[in-house]
Amino acid sequence: MAKLDCLIVGGGVIGLSLAYELANHGATVQLIDRGSIGREASWAGAGILPPANLATAIDPLDRLRALSHQLHREWAVRLREETGIDNGYRECGGLYLARSAGEAASLHAFAQMLRELEIEIERLSPVEVAELEPALREVATGQLKAAYSLPREAQLRNPDHLRALHLACERRGVQIRADREATGFECSNGRMTAVRTDAGLLHADRYCITSGAWSQRLLKQLGIATGIMPIRGQMVMFKCETPPFRRILNEGPRYLVPRDDGRVLVGSTEEEAGFDKSTTDQGVGELVALARQLVPALRDASIENSWAGLRPGTFDGFPYIGRMPGLDNAYAAAGHHRSGLHMSPGTAVVLRQLILGDEPEIDLSLFRVGRG
Ligand SMILES: Cc1cc2nc3c(=O)[nH]c(=O)nc-3n(C[C@H](O)[C@H](O)[C@H](O)COP(=O)(O)OP(=O)(O)OC[C@H]3O[C@@H](n4cnc5c(N)ncnc54)[C@H](O)[C@@H]3O)c2cc1C
Repeated sequence: MAKLDCLIVGGGVIGLSLAYELANHGATVQLIDRGSIGREASWAGAGILPPANLATAIDPLDRLRALSHQLHREWAVRLREETGIDNGYRECGGLYLARSAGEAASLHAFAQMLRELEIEIERLSPVEVAELEPALREVATGQLKAAYSLPREAQLRNPDHLRALHLACERRGVQIRADREATGFECSNGRMTAVRTDAGLLHADRYCITSGAWSQRLLKQLGIATGIMPIRGQMVMFKCETPPFRRILNEGPRYLVPRDDGRVLVGSTEEEAGFDKSTTDQGVGELVALARQLVPALRDASIENSWAGLRPGTFDGFPYIGRMPGLDNAYAAAGHHRSGLHMSPGTAVVLRQLILGDEPEIDLSLFRVGRG
């Protein structure tokens, strides 16, 4: 059979992972991005990989998370062997904390759900929290209403992961073009025949839109409605001499992620601000205050940087993964909201299966492109 030629529009973690996976399975792949490769949401994120269990997951979203969780471990090793780049994958563990009765109730419900999935989770007393992470002694003794440990929670350093994917793709012959914007499409007889770009037409056998928060702008031109919208997330980075704690600290939707080199990421806000990627004094101020309340050692640490990224949010919380309605050879994978880094390898595998004519190992009907 002749080699299939695929064109991917969008070089974030979803597009790069798909390119890597397709190239690994013999396809010829081109990828374009209207800006630099891997500099949007995928760069801005924190890289938290919450634990999951493929053996017990039934719901397709849980299965996608669990497949991805398993693949991250394997991809980290493969990417390091192929490129020499350590993507920062570490099973550092996570602590989930609640300082109010309401948050404690949600946390207990979350813990119960994880137990049903047979995901390792342990309830901790304040004394045990302080023993595990001495940096939390102050908050543990005064304010904690509930705490759990998830020893299998992991993280990766997303900028390094993207660099590794980019290089691995190039080594596999993927043609990657930055600064090339898709502006429209040509279709005939139920097939896409070209992507219009600012530098002319690009042709392929198969096409896939992986343009993150910007995907709806492109899909709209094909008459496809999705609920993808940009959700801004702000982030703050502290720099410490040594890591002040070892585990990821989660409280409600906020978190602190310790990197090996003493940097601590604090995130993140969830805001509807259109395509505006600016940080705000209020957003940054709230994150800094939270970090310094939880970890007093950060009161003396300097703030090295702050930034914002646009998550591809969806109206129902599910990503869009699959074939585009009305077009035999065009696909989309977008709308992974807060979990795109986590769910990227699983997304790449199931979409590669679909594109290359195999039965996807996860039922994709829940992720149907065009539900709107
Ligand atoms: C602050 C923050 C924290 C996060 N933390 C985590 C986390 O801890 N764990 C996790 O799993 N996820 C996290 N996420 C979510 C995750 O980053 C996203 O879900 C994921 O990066 C989405 O990847 P993507 O490839 O779809 O989008 P993007 O990374 O945004 O990539 C889309 C690409 O498409 C390109 N593009 C757009 N339009 C066009 C066009 N017309 N032509 C060509 N190219 C185009 C863009 O330039 C961009 O490079 C976080 C996100 C943010 C913002």
